[in-house]
Amino acid sequence: MALKMIRRPPRTLASRIRPPVKLTDPFYQSAGWRALAADIKRQRRYRCEACGSDFSRRADKLIADHIVERSAGGAEFDPLNIQCLCIACHNRKTAKARKARKARTAGTAGG
Ligand SMILES: [Zn+2]
Repeated sequence: MALKMIRRPPRTLASRIRPPVKLTDPFYQSAGWRALAADIKRQRRYRCEACGSDFSRRADKLIADHIVERSAGGAEFDPLNIQCLCIACHNRKTAKARKARKARTAGTAGG
């Protein structure tokens, strides 16, 4: 895969200090989502599905994450579209997704 220089928009710094989406998006505060997220974490035994770390003693550090992002049309309440990720793995995934989005909007056909 060819690496591509990514032009950084001028608001990079602002977007870095912006609070995570989950704090601002009312969807993540909804009772329906919170109940489903708690259920899924329990069912999957509080493990990060990317690195396998055990979060049974600190479930609040585990994130129920949409595999296909809601903004990309991913199902909001489908357990098959939800994975448990620790914060580190979630950040990695988010960074990757952001890069992929930029590559797409730059007109790259990468995959
Ligand atoms: Zn992890």
